[in-house]
Amino acid sequence: MADIYVIGHKAPDTDTVCSAIVYAAIKGYKAATAGPINEETQFVLDYFKVSVPEVLENAAGKTLVLVDHNEPGQRVDGAEKILEIIDHHKMNFNYPDPIFIHVEPVGSTATILAKMFPNEIKANKTYAGLLLSAILSDTVIFKSPTTTEEDKKIAEELAKVAEITDIVKFGVEVKKAKASIKGKPIADVIHVDFKDYDFKGKKVGIGQTEVVDIQEVYDRKDEVVNYLTELKNSKGYDMVIFMATDIIKEGTELYYVGDAKIIEKAFNVKVEGPSVWLPGVLSRKKQVAPPVEKVYLEG
Ligand code: MG
Ligand code: MG
Ligand code: MG
Repeated sequence: MADIYVIGHKAPDTDTVCSAIVYAAIKGYKAATAGPINEETQFVLDYFKVSVPEVLENAAGKTLVLVDHNEPGQRVDGAEKILEIIDHHKMNFNYPDPIFIHVEPVGSTATILAKMFPNEIKANKTYAGLLLSAILSDTVIFKSPTTTEEDKKIAEELAKVAEITDIVKFGVEVKKAKASIKGKPIADVIHVDFKDYDFKGKKVGIGQTEVVDIQEVYDRKDEVVNYLTELKNSKGYDMVIFMATDIIKEGTELYYVGDAKIIEKAFNVKVEGPSVWLPGVLSRKKQVAPPVEKVYLEG
């Protein structure tokens, strides 16, 4: 059989990359990423001395295992032959053949892998460290409402194997690795974690960055809004959203370009200007994408 690649979503994050690496290693497949990795993931790979997987910007002709995503807009270009999916997101997937699909409502894909392969992971400090990092990243150190009891329990087990004594302290180190936007081009900040959705035939893009000091974003709000406007106009979006999530204050300044009424309905807020502060909102998957989609579906 031709080479099988395990690959995560575009704009790769720590869960997508680490899950691809660990699953590929266990199954004897090749790990790949759908683009360059971010600073947080680089920190994790350096920490556990793991090399960066092959970057596959186009997967035409390759057989793929998708981890941490399933929606067409989030897949690598040229993704045609799909063998398996392991994910923790809502499904938007159509395929002509029956394939292996394992989806669970947990905080990270890494949590699912730890459950699927307890023995392999118990025996490998590096796998445990990568999966622990992925859980801490996706759950924002267990603060995100996507966090389940299972994520916490598995993280504790993984930390023992990886010899990480203070999980929260390690989580803060991981999170801080990409938390400053100082000196970075605003386009990079917005695209480092950006997902396209299809909401009732309309294209909606939602980017997110996590910061430890929201003021850094406020200082650049004109740049943010100008860039989102340009993006919406040039790429056919109905709405573009950027979540600047402060993981210390535990809330999100949500910038948007599009119909303000959609934002008002989705979050039950009064919107004045190009952004709104949403206290307690940390998760795109659970707290932003679903209410926005609901407004589109209700028309
Ligand atoms: Mg992800
Ligand atoms: Mg994930
Ligand atoms: Mg994420």
